Amino acid sequence: MHNKRHTDKHLRDEQRIISVLNALDESLQRRIERDVPLCCLTTLQIGGPALALCRIQNIDQARRFHEISREHDIPGFCLGGGSNVLVDDLGFQGLVMRMEITDLGIDGETVSIGAGATFDSLIQETLQAGLTGLEFASGIPGTIGGAITGNAGCFGHDISEFLLEATLLDTQGRVETVGAADLGFAYRTSKLKTSGDILLSAVFRLQRGNLDQAAETRRENIALRRRKHPHETPTAGSYFKNLPPEHPGGRRRAAGQLLEQAGAGNLSSGGAAVFDKHANIIINRDQATCSDVLDLAAKMKDAVHGKFGVVLEEEVRHIRHQQLK
Ligand SMILES: Cc1cc2nc3c(=O)[nH]c(=O)nc-3n(C[C@H](O)[C@H](O)[C@H](O)COP(=O)(O)OP(=O)(O)OC[C@H]3O[C@@H](n4cnc5c(N)ncnc54)[C@H](O)[C@@H]3O)c2cc1C
Repeated sequence: MHNKRHTDKHLRDEQRIISVLNALDESLQRRIERDVPLCCLTTLQIGGPALALCRIQNIDQARRFHEISREHDIPGFCLGGGSNVLVDDLGFQGLVMRMEITDLGIDGETVSIGAGATFDSLIQETLQAGLTGLEFASGIPGTIGGAITGNAGCFGHDISEFLLEATLLDTQGRVETVGAADLGFAYRTSKLKTSGDILLSAVFRLQRGNLDQAAETRRENIALRRRKHPHETPTAGSYFKNLPPEHPGGRRRAAGQLLEQAGAGNLSSGGAAVFDKHANIIINRDQATCSDVLDLAAKMKDAVHGKFGVVLEEEVRHIRHQQLK
């Protein structure tokens, strides 16, 4: 009975969203793709279809699609490179806004870039323009939008250190530019994770440093990633966040190390498995489903909790199928 009610509501919600989308004017309809398999847009290659997807290539499109989602109470979320998300097997019952704004401008040591540009292209372009600072992050997959949302980083540095300001589309449909301090950055997080605001573009302050050294750091870091990370098997990188330092001012404890010591390195579930060279990385070894990954992640968490009494926190965001209220 409960399931039937659930299914009826699901169908009613779906019909309502479809009729809203069908009533849009032609120019907007042309920008919408239906039933887009999200597995093709995520690095884990998992996830069912989005009911609707639009590729956002300028601020006006972002504003208009955001307005549709808001006014008609259609669930929506912004997708970047899909390298830090796990999409539900049933897909997403709503409107996915794929961020594809990529404009780049360099003025002295100040660089502005669209949220849909890849983080790595920003590093490449700025090095070519003689600017250094971001090379430590070479090889991190995904877009500027995803990197700022999750305050991406490695080797003790993160993207927020270089950010001057960000232009957002807020949940009320207003476009506003805010300073980096307004984004509530912390380790692998920012306010964007929960606010529902969409990042449109960002401005960074870099420096004219030692270019040869920066190029060498870039080469080394890319080579290190190729050695340590899966580069052909689908993955979303580290599944759990590292733990806070045990003492103030100390280093974060690597979740991978705890997982290794807890014996999680050999775990698997269905088509999902722990990567053999890094116990904090889940790979889609053989047509894994979202449920396989969730099940495996739960086993990994249990192993660490059982051995160390510590609860790991997910870094990868689970995008649920989502029902309307
Ligand atoms: C092999 C591998 C290695 C990795 N190594 C690292 C690493 O060293 N350090 C690190 O920090 N991460 C790492 N990651 C994780 C991932 O690459 C980063 O988190 C990346 O910054 C995510 O960007 P994305 O565009 O793919 O975001 P997505 O996965 O598309 O989205 C992530 C989150 O950001 C939100 N989002 C995306 N764009 C916007 C926007 N424009 N406005 C508002 N919200 C938005 C999404 O809604 C979602 O909540 C790795 C991943 C892989 C696969």
